[in-house]
Amino acid sequence: MSAPHSGQIEVRSETVGPFAENSYFLFDPESREAVAIDPGDEADRLLEIVRRERLDVRAILNTHCHIDHVGAVSALKAATGAPFHIHAADRFLLDGLSAQAALFGLRPPAIPEIDGYLVEGQTFELAGGRIAIRILETPGHSPGSVTFHAGDSLFSGDVLFQSSIGRTDLPGGDYETLLRSIRERLLRYPDATRVWPGHGPPTTIGRERETNPFLV
Ligand SMILES: [Zn+2]
Ligand SMILES: [Zn+2]
Repeated sequence: MSAPHSGQIEVRSETVGPFAENSYFLFDPESREAVAIDPGDEADRLLEIVRRERLDVRAILNTHCHIDHVGAVSALKAATGAPFHIHAADRFLLDGLSAQAALFGLRPPAIPEIDGYLVEGQTFELAGGRIAIRILETPGHSPGSVTFHAGDSLFSGDVLFQSSIGRTDLPGGDYETLLRSIRERLLRYPDATRVWPGHGPPTTIGRERETNPFLV
């Protein structure tokens, strides 16, 4: 008899690959409509979540295009037919995937075809609009880094971690830009907002506001 809570999302994650990257599925628990966020590696383990949770993957959304976040995109696209979206300012990283692989001594993954570009303020809807995923531009770790906001959650990629922030020494990174993104775009959310980062355990905005050594 109970009506579905507007905006209520469920999250599944898997930590994959040599960089221990967190790949996420954000979904509507009733319709099972989902987006995949940063499918970074080990596509078989990610597709096992799709099967187990009976997810209907509607889009693949990337916070940015470093090699540890894009390695399973091609396989996920092939298996689900979901379109792949990135911010245009990170396209050069995708085009340079073999150079990224060489930098870390890895085999270059297949370069996935881009189906659309993410822009500030854009929203993706699931389940007839019950869930809205909003795009926030949060550059600094890479020029095209974005954060996804849905329900009471932020998917922060490599912008904000538990007790740390993203590195800024890779091409296009900038420390002052990163700090401004975190302070002006992320810390304005309420303390209870959950943060699902690209590496390491989940945290909250309140915890990072009070204890993150880069922010206090
Ligand atoms: Zn990164
Ligand atoms: Zn990463």
